[in-house]
Amino acid sequence: MCCVGFAPNITFCIQEMKLISSFFSLSFRLVLPNKSIFYPPGMSESIIPPEVRPKPAVPAKPPHVAAPSPTAPHGPSGLGGGVGVDRVPGLGHSGGGSTLLGYIGIDTIIEQMRKKTMKAGFDFNIMIVGHSGLGKSTLVNTLFKSQVSRWSSGWGGEHKIPKTVEIKAVSHVIEEGGVKMKLTVIDTPGFGDQINNENCWDPISKYINEQYEKFLKEEVNIARKKRIPDTRVHCCLYFISPTGHSLRQLDIEFMKHLSRVVNIIPVIAKSDTMTPDEKNEFKHRVRKELETYGIEYYPQNEFDDDMEDKNENDKIREAMPFAVVGSDKEYQVNGKRVLGRKTAWGVVEVENPNHCEFALLRDFLIRSHLQDLKEVTHNIHYETYRARRLNDNGGLHPISVNNTQESNL
Ligand code: GDP
Ligand code: MG
Repeated sequence: MCCVGFAPNITFCIQEMKLISSFFSLSFRLVLPNKSIFYPPGMSESIIPPEVRPKPAVPAKPPHVAAPSPTAPHGPSGLGGGVGVDRVPGLGHSGGGSTLLGYIGIDTIIEQMRKKTMKAGFDFNIMIVGHSGLGKSTLVNTLFKSQVSRWSSGWGGEHKIPKTVEIKAVSHVIEEGGVKMKLTVIDTPGFGDQINNENCWDPISKYINEQYEKFLKEEVNIARKKRIPDTRVHCCLYFISPTGHSLRQLDIEFMKHLSRVVNIIPVIAKSDTMTPDEKNEFKHRVRKELETYGIEYYPQNEFDDDMEDKNENDKIREAMPFAVVGSDKEYQVNGKRVLGRKTAWGVVEVENPNHCEFALLRDFLIRSHLQDLKEVTHNIHYETYRARRLNDNGGLHPISVNNTQESNL
């Protein structure tokens, strides 16, 4: 998992140290414009004190730490598998090798990355699948706190259910805290709405592969764009009908076919229509069924990076599929305005974790796993497509991909 943090204190320290060190060098040694050196009265060149080194921001290696034996099983560092990479004590490891005599500034990479990301912005493409009326458009609008789905019922005007599955991509640039995200919502109206829904995932699968192909084509171009527009689907929210019984055949078929090419996150739609007991029982049953049919949804077990990642993801997997509620209406509850749905028993608050799991889904999807969704898409799904494509054809042949969607950040 990738996690970007900020280190304002560290940066402040560096600035402070630079100031201190420049003060000392300036007091004793002034380089004048004509390049001659001026020494303060009473001081000759021979008594110039050494330049004061800034204090290391990280502790130096404690003297009692012994150098590791050269025969240690993983080498001194455990990094790089015996290719001669030494970790240094300044980085918080007790391995041998060189010793840091002062602060270098390696940790500022985080701040540098943050600045670059803020300037460049990023793409995030989310697909919503499930039969019509399950609250898909309402939920993405609730997630991003704006009308990001054109097909919301809230947008006035009836829209007819199409006779075949259509793919509709709508993009918006959302900015928060100086970070720009180009969000593309890919709606799939018509999915699961026909009498015969056989192979109705074909247009969806085709769209997903077309985006991989488009990216691949850009990547193998001799004159590549500095930044390849990313239209690949990073996440597919699959809406399960709140029947309280079991998954439908179509749900199973769709997820089975598509989980190999895209990150699927199953959710139980309109969970306010079930009692808490019904909801828990249904969630349990759906989880069992997904396991029985060998459906790997996101976050996939096999892509956990380490134990910390696994522990965190295990908790999420145990709570899935999230039973959600979406709404674009606000109600007054205990003197506060909250998004919710009015029922005979009172207002179901969308963001209240005691009422539904919308907040869990939002935190997982946006606040903790958004970057990982993009990474799994690139490193696993796209990579699989790319390898197959290059293998199958012994190279690339020209393709015709329409529906070009350029990044306009
Ligand atoms: P879509 O066709 O799947 O995109 O569904 P919409 O978002 O257009 O919603 C269809 C209808 O369901 C609208 O009348 C919404 O107000 C309603 N709706 C949306 N989300 C929920 C929900 O979580 N619970 C309930 N009870 N109704 C919802
Ligand atoms: Mg809709």
